[in-house]
Formats: sequence, structure tokens, C-alpha cells
Amino acid sequence: MNQRLEAPPSTSLSETALFFDVDGTLVALEEKPEAVVVSTSLRMLLERLIIATDGALALVSGRSIAQLDSLFKPLEFSASGVHGLERRLLPGSSHRIIEATDALDDARAELDAFTKAHPGTLFEDKGLTLALHYRMAAEHREKAAGLVRKLVSADPEKLVLLEGKMVFELKPPGFDKGRAIADFMKEPPFRGRSPIFAGDDVTDEAGFRTINQMNGVAIKVGIDDRPTEAAFGLDNVEAMLRWLEGLLDDTSKRNAGAGQ
Ligand SMILES: [Mg+2]
Repeated sequence: MNQRLEAPPSTSLSETALFFDVDGTLVALEEKPEAVVVSTSLRMLLERLIIATDGALALVSGRSIAQLDSLFKPLEFSASGVHGLERRLLPGSSHRIIEATDALDDARAELDAFTKAHPGTLFEDKGLTLALHYRMAAEHREKAAGLVRKLVSADPEKLVLLEGKMVFELKPPGFDKGRAIADFMKEPPFRGRSPIFAGDDVTDEAGFRTINQMNGVAIKVGIDDRPTEAAFGLDNVEAMLRWLEGLLDDTSKRNAGAGQ
């Protein structure tokens, strides 16, 4: 069953805080995460949104903040990286909420060995988390799932499994995108605004739950069979970007009207 969610309502950006997942939400998914490029038009759109929200815009991604900076260069954003394990509120420097843990060391060696033995799978060491991608080798999914489950059950207090689109990711427990959004919302320029969060994947569900608790607007990007806590939906990345353009247009019309 394909779920079709209602399109999100238009809101005034001057009263809104914007939170975005990146891959699959603002940019199309690629087989390899490093193949993603950010267009000039997306950079310009985000810059206009930062201005319209007085800076209340943050990226909330599974990528590290360093990876986000190189992806969007020269733009820098308030951001949470590595599924809530890193956070940066601009102006300021990014910090890791937790330090890398030795619980990852054993898993690191096993994942590395697995991807070498199974062509098409890809091991990504993010420092604070370990990702096993199988987008180019779906036939190895079951074996990969068996390995990551074994690693988690060996040390369940230190490792949890995040299952994304064609990727398994191991991370320390206790932090997620929802907590990152809640922390941003405690501080200016986010505080007191109505939050919107858009994401496409299972790891975004924690963010959707937080948004719902705050009576914000949770937007699932993409159509698939998985259950979601998001109340609103947009079909794909293009629809997401068009909707944001529409918000900017509506906001400038409102402001022009207010000035007359
Ligand atoms: Mg995503």
C-alpha cells in the first residue's frame, strides 16, 4: 500500500523554524554518498530561507557536520550531524556531543572485512558511527543484516542499529534527530518559533515525533510503504524544493501586503 499524505500547509517564514534532513530530502539519493552534489539553485534557495527565518534553519543529517560543510561549501549552517551525535549552533563551532567510543572498534574491523569480501557493499567510517551500505549489492542484504545484528547483540548497551535506505548504521544510543531538534528549539533564533522538519527515512521518525509534540509540521518526503509519524507528505525532492519556493513567495507577498 502506498501511503499518500496531505501536502503541508503554507506558513509564514517569519514565525517558522526550519529543520531539514539532507539526503533524500533536499538532494536526491546517490549510490555513493560522496557522489551527491549541491546545485547553485539549492544553495540560493537555502540562503533565501535563512534570511526569511532570521537564521532559524538547521540541517539535521546522518552525515557529519564536516561532510555537510564540504557538501554545501561555501555555505555553513546550524546543523546536527551523525544522527544527533554532533551539533553546531551558528555563530559558533561544532562539537561532538559524545566522544568516539571503543565499542565501535571491534565492529569497525568486522565491517571492513565484510565489505572487502562482498563486492558492491561499502563501509563508511564516520568516526562516531559506522555505516554499511549495500545500495549497489542488494543481494548481500541478508548477510549484512546478520552481521550488524550480531555486532549489536554483542554489546547492546553501547551500540544500536539504525536501518536506513540500503544502509545499516551502528551508533551509540541516547541521541537522535528528535533530541537535536528539541535542543535547537530551546535557543535563539529557534526558540518561540513554530518548527517544520522534513525527512525521508526511518532515522527521521524520531524528528517527526518531536515535531508532533511541539505541534509543528512534520513532512515525509517520498512515497513508500513504511509507516510514518509525519502528518504531511511531499512526493519527492523536487516537490520539497517547489514547496519551499512557494513558502518564500507567500512570505514575500505577505510582507509586501503588510508594508502597504
Ligand atoms: Mg535522508
